[in-house]
Formats: sequence, C-alpha cells, structure tokens
Amino acid sequence: MDWLRRDYASLWHPFTQADEWEKQEENLVIERGEGVWLIDTAGRRYVDGTSSLWCNVLGHRHPRLDAALAEQAGRIAHTTMLGLTHPGAIEHAERLCALTGLDRVFYSDSGSTAVEVALKMAFQGKQQLGETRRTRFAALSEAYHGDTVGSVSLGGIDLFHGIYRPLLFSALRVESPERSDPAEEARCLAQARALFAEHGEEIAALVVEPLVQGAAGMRTHSVGFLRELARLARAAGAWLVVDEVATGFGRSGPMFACEAAGIRPDFLCLAKAITGGYLPLAATLTSETVYGCFRGPYSAHRTFYHGHTYTGNPLAVAVANATLDVYRDEAILERAQRAGLRLDAALRAIHHPCVTEVRRVGMMGAILLTAPGGRPLPAVGRFGHRVSLAARRHGAIIRNLGDTVVVMPPLVIDDAALDQLVAAVAAAVSEVLGADGARAEAASG
Ligand SMILES: *Cc1c(COP(=O)(O)O)cnc(C)c1O
Repeated sequence: MDWLRRDYASLWHPFTQADEWEKQEENLVIERGEGVWLIDTAGRRYVDGTSSLWCNVLGHRHPRLDAALAEQAGRIAHTTMLGLTHPGAIEHAERLCALTGLDRVFYSDSGSTAVEVALKMAFQGKQQLGETRRTRFAALSEAYHGDTVGSVSLGGIDLFHGIYRPLLFSALRVESPERSDPAEEARCLAQARALFAEHGEEIAALVVEPLVQGAAGMRTHSVGFLRELARLARAAGAWLVVDEVATGFGRSGPMFACEAAGIRPDFLCLAKAITGGYLPLAATLTSETVYGCFRGPYSAHRTFYHGHTYTGNPLAVAVANATLDVYRDEAILERAQRAGLRLDAALRAIHHPCVTEVRRVGMMGAILLTAPGGRPLPAVGRFGHRVSLAARRHGAIIRNLGDTVVVMPPLVIDDAALDQLVAAVAAAVSEVLGADGARAEAASG
C-alpha cells in the first residue's frame, strides 16, 4: 500500500512543516478507532490523547452516534437550508437554545466559520441599529479563533497570525493574564478599562475564549476576570461574543464555560465537540435582540447575506442530536469531572525537572516544558514536538503547542487508559529531555 510514500507525494497537511513531516519516522496511518483508541494500519493501538484535535468527546465508534448516522443516511445525506428546512436542524436548534438560554441558531461548518459568522452578524447588526461608528472588534492577547481571515484578524498568536497582518482588520487588544493570578488579572482589567474608556463607542463586540485560551497553551483566567470583561463590554454598549469552540460541551467542566461564569453572551460560538467529534458542524447562537436587527421588509435590505453550502447538514445534525442524547443518558459531565480530577493528579505526579508547570481545567490538561530551573527551551530544539512524537512509542497520541504539551483525551476515558496516556507522556519527556533533564540543560546552554 505504501500509504506514507503516497501521502508525501500528494498531500499538504494543516499546521505542518512539510520538510519535517516527510522526514519523521514516527508518522502513522490511522485506519480505525474504538472508544478512546486509535488503531493504525499495522494494527497498533494508541490512546487518543488529543481527542482527535479536541473534538472527540464520547470515543470513536460510539454505537448511538454510529446508529444515528446510519439512520439519517437512510433518509437523506444532504439538503440545503437556503430556502428549505429539515427536522434534524430544527430539533438541534431547539435543544441548543434550551441548553444555553439563547434564542437563535445559525449553522456553519467549523469553529472558524462560527466565529466569522458572529463577527459579520455583530458588525451588520450594529450598523442596522444605527450605531454606525461601531466598526471594530476587541479580542484578547494570544487569542485563537480559527483560520479564516476574519477570525485570524482577532487572533493574537504571532507565530500563526503575524504574516497575514497586512491582509487583516486590526483588532483592539485586551491583555489576557498569563496565568490566573489576582494581581496579574487586576493589571489586565485596568488595561481593559482604559481600552473601553478610549474606544468603547467604536467597538461592535468583544470576543473571548472563556476561562481557557486553548491554543495559547491553556492560558487560564478566573471566572471573575471573565465576568468583569463581560460587564465592561456591556457597559460600553458593545456585544459579547463567547467562543466556546474548545471549552464547550463539558470540556472545561460545566456544559458551557459561560454557565460557570453566570454570563449570557450575545453570541455563542460552538463547534468541535458538537457532533461528538464525528462530522464538521458549527453553530453561532444569538439572542432575539440581535435577530431583531435583521428583521424588516425585504426592501429594507437587512438580510444576513451569508451561508455555506453544507450549512445544517442533516447527517451532522443527526449525530449532534444523538450526542446530546448521550450527554443526557450517560452522565457524561459527571464522568468527565471524575476523569478531570484523575488527569490533574496524574499530571502533577510527573516528577521531572523539565516539567515546571501543570495546567488543567476540566478535561483540558497541559504540561509546560522548560530547562531545569525554568529557563525556556530553545525553540529550534523542537522539544515539545519531539516529546509528542516520542509518546507514540509508548502508545499515546498527543500534540504540543510549542513546549506546552497538551493532554486532552475524550471525556469518557477510563482510568486504565488515562493512566497509560499520562505514563506515555512522562516516558516521552524522560526519553527526549533525559531522565534528569540533562539533555535540556545541554541544549539551553
Ligand atoms: C479550534 C478552535 C477554533 C477553530 O475551529 P476550527 O473548527 O478548527 O475552524 C476556534 N476557536 C477556538 C477557541 C478553538 O479552539
């Protein structure tokens, strides 16, 4: 079959340096999944420690999701929502509204588009309200909201977003705390207050990842910080867009991080886990107030001229509905809470001089790698990346963000698999950095 040779000849992988990819000995060809396990073409099994990029919450081949998919395929795979509707999309919208307390659901296909839709709705909505000076957006430093041009404009990760700056609209930047520390948060809030005082009347919306900024390397902030940002936005007459693409569906603890903070955003962006990790689907939820800005006779030109070919795809919403059934019937949040505590304890039990910090919120975990003593490792050493690859030899698939190694397994992972996953991470750290961190020491001079 020689899958890899054929891959190197014709594929372009996302977020992947081609030269590195084609040289890596650890590349795997995944053929099947079973629960939290990924199985490659050689029949080897790996714990899915990234939840297939943060979206698989219930395990692979979940019988109820498989059945929902097959059942819907027996009726129709796709029909458009432009001018037509269908039962699955209606049911799912009702259920999302009931879960979030919001009123309207607009479907798209990815986290990026969910945010893009919120941006365009907020911009157009404010224009149609007559608040024509509100043409700008505020976003957090180190923000990640996806890869389309609008969501990249909000992005604050220079490594990903820097090169595109000339193409983008300029977002106002609210500093986010490097860690959830009261003094650091107070400093950031003072900066946010000054920003709103100066630019409040120009801002259509403030966009935030609530409680955890995943792609920034699991940066966390407190419920109080999030609440105060929400209050500042509201006081300035700006809308609040909450991006729960990563935190939603129990990943950060409660069903949605907004619940933990007791905030009701004007826009809520959902994707990743919405279909249990089966199919691309996203939803942008908003209020009746926002929807009202788009009402009027056709001649008023208040239509939201935006949509995607596969908006509200019936297969995807069928699986999304089954996903919510499983959450309801299989105590997913309770199981995730228990697993999260075990993940926390296991990560903290990795005693290695290069593991200088553990971050964990719900079922989002990460360890930060540094040289012994806390100095940053040289980026060219690619230590985080090498640890991720080394973990495969120990039976786990993980990914890193620089030297932050992310551990984000499905919410339903059992104790044995979770322990194997964290053991694989620990073994990989020792292998790459030396049991005593000597290799890191040498590399960082
Ligand atoms: C992953 C992610 C996105 C982008 O989602 P895609 O489906 O990859 O487009 C947006 N926001 C957050 C917070 C994310 O974690």
